[in-house]
Amino acid sequence: MGKKTKVGKTRKDKFYQLAKETGFRSRAAFKLIQLNRKFGFLQQSQVCIDLCAAPGGWMQVAKQNMPVSSIVIGVDLFPIRPIAGCISLVEDITTEKCRQSLTKELQSWKADVVLHDGAPNVGRNWLYDAYQQICLTLNALKLGTQFLRKGGYFVTKVFRSKDYNALLWVLKQLFKKVHATKPSASRKESAEIFVVCQGYMAPNSIDPRLLDAKYVFEELDLENKKKSSLLHPEKRKRIKAEGYTEEDISLRNSMAASTFMQADNALAALQGIASITIDDERIRKHKKTTVEILECCKDLKVLGRKDIKGLLLWWKVVREDLYKTKLDAVIEEPEEVAPKPLTQEEIEDMEDTELQHEIENLADEEQKELKRKRKKTLKSKAKLHEKMNLNMVIKGDEGPVEEIEHELFELSDISTTKDLVGMLDVNPDHVVENEIQEQPKLSKYIKYDKDDKRMDDDANYENDDEPEMSADEESDVDYDRDGLCLSDNDNTQCSVKDKKKTRNNHPLIRSGDFRDKDTKRQQRVQLWYEKDNLQNIESDDDEENHDIESLAKGYEAKGVSVLGVNTDHSSNILLGKKAKRRARHEAQKEEISESSDSDEEIESDELKVDGNVTKEPKPKKIRLNEQELALGALLIRGKKTRRDLIDAAWNRYAFNDDHLPAWFVQDEQEHMQKPQPVPKELQEEYQRKVQELNVRPIKKVMEAKARKKRRTVKRLAKAKKMAEKVMENANATSQEKVNQLKKIYKKAQEKKKEITYVVAKKHTASRRARRPAGVKGRYRVVDPREKKDKRSKDAKKRRESKKR
Ligand code: SAM
Repeated sequence: MGKKTKVGKTRKDKFYQLAKETGFRSRAAFKLIQLNRKFGFLQQSQVCIDLCAAPGGWMQVAKQNMPVSSIVIGVDLFPIRPIAGCISLVEDITTEKCRQSLTKELQSWKADVVLHDGAPNVGRNWLYDAYQQICLTLNALKLGTQFLRKGGYFVTKVFRSKDYNALLWVLKQLFKKVHATKPSASRKESAEIFVVCQGYMAPNSIDPRLLDAKYVFEELDLENKKKSSLLHPEKRKRIKAEGYTEEDISLRNSMAASTFMQADNALAALQGIASITIDDERIRKHKKTTVEILECCKDLKVLGRKDIKGLLLWWKVVREDLYKTKLDAVIEEPEEVAPKPLTQEEIEDMEDTELQHEIENLADEEQKELKRKRKKTLKSKAKLHEKMNLNMVIKGDEGPVEEIEHELFELSDISTTKDLVGMLDVNPDHVVENEIQEQPKLSKYIKYDKDDKRMDDDANYENDDEPEMSADEESDVDYDRDGLCLSDNDNTQCSVKDKKKTRNNHPLIRSGDFRDKDTKRQQRVQLWYEKDNLQNIESDDDEENHDIESLAKGYEAKGVSVLGVNTDHSSNILLGKKAKRRARHEAQKEEISESSDSDEEIESDELKVDGNVTKEPKPKKIRLNEQELALGALLIRGKKTRRDLIDAAWNRYAFNDDHLPAWFVQDEQEHMQKPQPVPKELQEEYQRKVQELNVRPIKKVMEAKARKKRRTVKRLAKAKKMAEKVMENANATSQEKVNQLKKIYKKAQEKKKEITYVVAKKHTASRRARRPAGVKGRYRVVDPREKKDKRSKDAKKRRESKKR
C-alpha cells in the first residue's frame, strides 16, 4: 500500500510540475507533451493534422510546440473549441468527405505529422470497443498515407487487444521505425498505448488490403463468415478454383456422430464436413434420429438452411440426452489450461449478472427508501394523533376562538382607551387593586440617589460597582443621570423610555401635576443647579473651568455655536457643561453604530437658564473623522485621560495669533501639527466601524431587525396559543402537559438550524448518502462537481482581475 501511495504521489507531483511548466491541465494534453518530449516530432513540423481532436487539448499542445508559422488542422465528429492559429473541421474520419475537406484545406501541402487520439464512443463491451478503436486507427492511418510527406510521423493511440499485433505489422510495412510506448500520463489500468511511427516510406502504391480492417483483422469475423455461409447457402459465393486445401484432400470429409455430439459448437464442427457417420447405436436408436436426419447426414453439402437447422436441433437433443453427464464430468475435471479468451456469450452472461446485481441493489435501495418514507408517515400520523388526543387539533374545526382569560386583573393589559372601555363592560368578580399594590415589582433599573453619590467632572454620578451597559442603554441613562429627566411622575425616577411612554398615554394613570412640560423642565433644571455640590464648582475646581472653556473653544473652532459663551460666569459653566454633554452625545452616537447615524443632525437641546428659554439654533452637521471619533472616545473614557489630553493640547504648536497671512496659516496647518495622542488601534476600530456603516445602511439593518422581531413575536404567539390548548385538555395528566409545554416553547425559541454541507464521494454519488461520521444535526449532500466548478470559477475571476 505504502509503495503504491508513494508512486501515486510522485506521479501526481510530476503532473503538477508538468502543469506548472506548460500551463496545461488535462491528462490528454500531458500524454502528447510526454510523447513529444520523448520523440520530438512537433518541433520539426510545419503542418500537423490532428484526427479526432475534440475538445482540442492535443491541438493546443501541437500549436504551442510547433514553429510559429505552422499549420494545425483538427478533425472531429464534434466541434472543436476555437484555438488561435488552428483550423478545425467537423468530419467523420472514416468518410471520403473528410478526405476531400482535408485536401481542400491542404491543397498541395503535405503534413509532417498526423496525430490520432480517436476513441469511438460505443461502450458496448470491451472487445467490441477495442475492435472499433483499432478499425478507427486503421482509418486514420489510411488518411495519414494520403497526406503524410515522406519521412513524416504518425502518432496514434491503440488499445492492446488481439488485433494489436496485426496493426503493428501493417505499421511496420509503412514506416521505418515503430515505437510503442505508454506515457505516464496514461492511466495504468487503461489498455491504451501509443504508437509513434517514424519515417513514412511513402511507397508509390499501397496494397489496399493493408488498410482494409476486414482483411487485416480477418480472424475476428471468420466465425461469422462461416456461419453465414452454412446457414445461407444461397448467399455463398462461387468458390474460386484455387485448388484443395491441405485438410480438404478428399472430397468427402466424414465425421463420426459421437464426435459431432461432443463438439461444443455444432455449426463450427460441421464446417468442411461432407457427411456424418452414425458410429453409436444409442444415437441411431434415439427417437430424434429420424429417417430424414439419417438422409441429411449422408451428404451435408447438398443441405439447405432448413435441413442444417434440423441437424442442429438433433445435435442439441441427443447431446443433452446421451452426452450431458459425460460432458459435465469432463467439465468438472480440473484442467490447468490457460484461460480462454471470453466468448461473446460469456461476456453477455457476465454483463447480465452484473446487471442483475445492480438491479438487486437498486431494488434494495428502493425498499429502504420506502421503509424510510413509511416510518416518516407513521411518525407524523402519531404526532397528529397525539395532538388530537390533546384536543389540539379537532377534525374540520378550528376550535372556538376564546378570549384569553387572565387569572388576575392586570394594569398592563390596558394600554389604550379602547382597552379600558372594553374592560369597563365586564363586571369583575372581585376587586384586586390592593393585590396589585401588594406585589412588589422589581425595577429593571436601580434608582440613583444623587446626593449620596460621588460626582465626576461631567457632573455625573460615578459608581464603580455599576455593571457595564450596552451603548444604547448608556445613552439613555446618561441623560437621566444629569437629572433632567422629563418624567411626568415626580415620585418615580424615570427608567425606560418605553415605560415612560406607556405611562404618559395610559388612560388610567392621571398625573396630579398640571404644569406644562416646558415649565416643568425649567424648574427641574433650576432645582438641579441649586444643589449643594454644584454651588462650589466655581471655587473648588478652577481646572475644570479651564477644560470647559477649552472645549467650548474647540467646538467653536469646528463651527458649532456654543450658546452663552459671552454671558455671565455661571451660565458659562452651565453652557460649557451643555456643550460637553453634547460632545459626549456626539461621540457616543458615533460609537453606537446600530442605534444612530453619524450623519444625523444633532438635535439641539432647549436650554432654560434662569427661566429664560433660549432656543439653540440647529448646529451644523459635524462629520467627525476616525481620529476625532477616537479622540472623543478617549475624552469620555475617564477623568484622567481627558485631563492628560487637554494638557497635551497646550504645546509649542498651539499659536493662535490673529491676522496672520493665509499662506502662513496654511503652512502652519500642514507642518506645525502635533500628532494626536490617539492609539492607532482605536482609530482603526473607528475606521472599521465607519466602513461598516457605509456598507450596511442603517435603514436596512433596522428593517432586518424588525423583521426578525416580528417573526419571533409571531412564533411566540403561536406557541402561546398551542400552550393554552394543551392546558385546556382535561384528558392529559399534568406531567404530560408539562412535557408538551416544554416542547412547544423549546420549538418556539429554536433558532434556524445550521446545515452542514457534505461533499458526495464519487462512489456514493449515485446512491443515497448515509450520514458521514462526525456530522451532527442537519446535513445536505452536495455534488463534488459544484465544488470544483466554484473553484474554477473563482480562479477564472482571479485571473481576469489580474489581467485587468
Ligand atoms: N485528443 C483529444 C484532446 O486532446 O482533446 C481527445 C480525443 S477524445 C479521447 C476522442 C475523440 O475521438 C472524441 O472527441 C470523438 O468525437 C472522436 N471520434 C471518435 N470517432 C470519430 C470519427 N469517426 N471521426 C472523427 N472523430 C471521431
